[in-house]
Amino acid sequence: MPALEKIYNDLTMTNNPESLAASTQPNFLRDIIAEDVRTKKFGDAVIQTRFPPEPNGYLHIGHAKAICIDFGLADEFGGKTNLRFDDTNPEKEEQEYVDSIMEDVRWLGFEWERLCYASDYFPQLYEWALQLIKAGKAYVDDLTADEIRQYRGTLTEPGKDSPYRNRSVEENLDFFQRMKAGEFPDGSRVLRAKIDMASPNLNMRDPVMYRILHATHHRTGDEWCIYPMYDYAHGQSDSIECVTHSMCTLEFADHQPLYRWYIEQLGIFPSQQFEFDRLNITYTMLSKRKLLQLVQEKRVNGWDDPRMPTLCGIRRRGFTAEAIRTFVAAAGVSRTNGSTDVEMLEHFQRDDLNRHARRAMAVLRPLKLIIDNYPAGQEELVEVANNPEDPSAGTRQVPFSRELYIEQDDFREVPPPKYYRLSPGKEVRLRNAYFVTAQNVVKAADGSIVEVHCTYDPASRGGNSPDGRKVKSTIHWVSTTHAISAEIRLYDKLFAKPDPYDLAEGQDVLDNLNPNSLEIVTGAKLEPSLANARLEDRFQFERVGYFCLDPDSKPGNLVFNRTLPLKDSWAKIEKKAGA
Ligand code: ATP
Ligand code: MG
Repeated sequence: MPALEKIYNDLTMTNNPESLAASTQPNFLRDIIAEDVRTKKFGDAVIQTRFPPEPNGYLHIGHAKAICIDFGLADEFGGKTNLRFDDTNPEKEEQEYVDSIMEDVRWLGFEWERLCYASDYFPQLYEWALQLIKAGKAYVDDLTADEIRQYRGTLTEPGKDSPYRNRSVEENLDFFQRMKAGEFPDGSRVLRAKIDMASPNLNMRDPVMYRILHATHHRTGDEWCIYPMYDYAHGQSDSIECVTHSMCTLEFADHQPLYRWYIEQLGIFPSQQFEFDRLNITYTMLSKRKLLQLVQEKRVNGWDDPRMPTLCGIRRRGFTAEAIRTFVAAAGVSRTNGSTDVEMLEHFQRDDLNRHARRAMAVLRPLKLIIDNYPAGQEELVEVANNPEDPSAGTRQVPFSRELYIEQDDFREVPPPKYYRLSPGKEVRLRNAYFVTAQNVVKAADGSIVEVHCTYDPASRGGNSPDGRKVKSTIHWVSTTHAISAEIRLYDKLFAKPDPYDLAEGQDVLDNLNPNSLEIVTGAKLEPSLANARLEDRFQFERVGYFCLDPDSKPGNLVFNRTLPLKDSWAKIEKKAGA
């Protein structure tokens, strides 16, 4: 595997708006499309892809990979991508999910050619079902769901024909039309494709095409009481939209023969399916069903809880679309499911924030620092770079005065070995301001330190002493009279184990939740410029981490989310892997 540095350089060079998911990482799907373009496999038709979410939950970072593949590859070859809602399960689907999915795809940076719904094709799918019945390729089965399962056989035993398999075409047509007309109760009959009950591929043992379900659909209302199964709807929907390359995750590989069978029997546009590996990330669970459970059981605060791997969750946490696209491209595409370190995602996000986030000073757990020789009532403005990585970000003025807040952690009355921050008699730099030397402390009745008194060197303004004196540490600060208070939410991994599915007998994946994934710090003290923070702004609170404003904020009552701490553990992992 090439060094991270190289992958990264390749990615940032090619990751431009014209080709958002492009990278020089090997990608067999790109090779296939390139070859099909070269051989004009689809004549002069453009490359057409689709992203087909089921609107039964919010999109997560795994979907981001599928989105980057579907939209990104089509883009690269001048093709087009449809957003198609695979809405064939009325009981689990809702408009709320449809809306959020559109918002998330756009946020990731992609725009669809056409907005489609599998439900728009219900009439056509029904006509094609009649056509298959007339051709003797489909039949109505009265077996119960349990019986169908028993008759299907196993991987080692062939299945058995249903006693209804040889119904006449007329009888099948009659029953199927009456199924549609609502004459039968849910689950009493199904329409099945007549393929081969002895096929080594279980998906080919007369798969169910339609089931009866008297349920209200979020788009078609009560118009239908029979609904097509995923396998019967998907390939034909692709075909209707002239999808040339239908890309999906590996678990559908065994369904591919069925995908082809329907298209061949119907003689319609020959869409082709290709499978790639699912994105799995350590400490992260990407099952929509289980994410829904987290929300319903209030284990998290909604789909957009910043600890969630949903796109709306990580967006609220402060992750950026650019970093996610870069990460997804770096994680690569293959035909083997694996697992990607969450630290790699964090690395790409940190790198993006390091380049773009504005610096600010914020003290999470304040301790008062009083400069005894600084004139009472005096204040001054110190000029500070907004981003040392980006001179074009400019500078700002930060107020300085006699009383400051510093972090409790930046002072020790009795310093342990190698503690270079403030302690009695030690001199440190207040970032961008002055050198100070701690003198003595004031304690509360319980012995806790409430104030540290110090003296400053007026000659060290700007943070350097003219006599060339060195200090071993620089700490951040906020002027007490100018500070604004805020709530800070610190997030840790949502799951305690690298593989959330690493379970003991009888355990559920939710038993692996990290009980300490959220810590709320109230009464943090921030430099006054942060009062104007906007939701889209990204900050590095110096020495503390990357932060963004949370939508829960109210004027005078700001809330900031920690996107990530500063420390990059991915570099360490890389080094270890290389060693
Ligand atoms: P879940 O299994 O969590 O319910 P799903 O695959 O059923 O997810 P869909 O809405 O059907 O969710 O997914 C839409 C598309 O996104 C599909 O093509 C699917 O293959 C792809 N996808 C879903 N999860 C991942 C993942 N972890 N990595 C890559 N692609 C994914
Ligand atoms: Mg699905």
